[in-house]
Amino acid sequence: MSIKRIGLLTSGGDAPGMNAAIRAITLKCINAGWDVIGIEAGYNGLFSLSSRPLTHQDVDNIIQRGGTILKTARCQTLKEDNGPELAAQQLDKLAIDALIVIGGDGSFRGATQINKFWPKPIIGIPGTIDNDINGTDQTIGFWTAIETALSCIDKIRDTADAFERIFVVEVMGRDCGFIAMESGIACAAEQIICKEIIENESDFLSKLYSSIQHAVTWQQTQSYVIVVAENALSISAQTLAQNIQSNTGVDTKSAILGYVQRGGAPVAMDRVLATQLGIAAVDALVQGKSGVMIGTLNNTLVEIPLADTGLKNTANQALIKRLKQFNFDLTD
Ligand code: ADP
Repeated sequence: MSIKRIGLLTSGGDAPGMNAAIRAITLKCINAGWDVIGIEAGYNGLFSLSSRPLTHQDVDNIIQRGGTILKTARCQTLKEDNGPELAAQQLDKLAIDALIVIGGDGSFRGATQINKFWPKPIIGIPGTIDNDINGTDQTIGFWTAIETALSCIDKIRDTADAFERIFVVEVMGRDCGFIAMESGIACAAEQIICKEIIENESDFLSKLYSSIQHAVTWQQTQSYVIVVAENALSISAQTLAQNIQSNTGVDTKSAILGYVQRGGAPVAMDRVLATQLGIAAVDALVQGKSGVMIGTLNNTLVEIPLADTGLKNTANQALIKRLKQFNFDLTD
């Protein structure tokens, strides 16, 4: 079957750099003589048939913009029993010959379900700030989220230092601790906490309190910053800060960075990654590929079956090893 019309959508959590991928895919498809149909608000746009052709002009001057010009969303209809079959019918109504999905592991699960009823090519591109997708070293948005978290934590460090305080800073990454790890290493956090390194929470917390007490007693630092991934502990960042304060007697504050980590202009790494993945996705379609995610492993573009993607293992050994190198006294 020859391809004439590509459907393109962004789905799940937005990530800076999605627009760079949309631009690359659109320009590459136009070059190949194909039409690109942007489907709006994730899979919802399929069910409501909200779509529009993407032209050169639509993708002009968007590479530096955060968010996604196609909007994104979560779509309950696709998760219902007849959702995937209905989505397949909608794709046919739009006369789509191949679909490119930019999103996370959930979006790829949805794509895999649709493919069962729609035997045409579907290609995935990993877009999520959490970097939590199996089969790729990097996902679009990850590097920008780290830079954003880092610039916030650096500012928190200034106030922590001025007041000689302890700060607990919560970052995103509930399933995978990469944001905590990378931003924590880069801001020289005294401690980095993510669930991958916690075997027994109460043992871990006692060790944490005595480690902080030791640092306070010996005046090792003027300020003490703990970067914690959301969901890493059963207690909130605020409760952790209160517990530290009652254990050490040092004024302890908490800050939750939250959605600020999703926004902003993508950094160069994310723009380049998104552009490369977008081009490779169209190349994969030209070569007749289907049902794969384009990712990178060891700086090389790879194709991984969508069905093998899924969430990165929470006991990610590479991450634990790296944390052991940098968390100086907690994970000895
Ligand atoms: P992300 O892609 O960022 O991981 P979600 O997990 O919210 O985000 O998934 C995005 C969308 O993918 C969901 O709203 C839903 O429409 C679709 N999806 C996720 N899991 C499934 C599933 N098991 N079956 C069908 N669709 C799914």
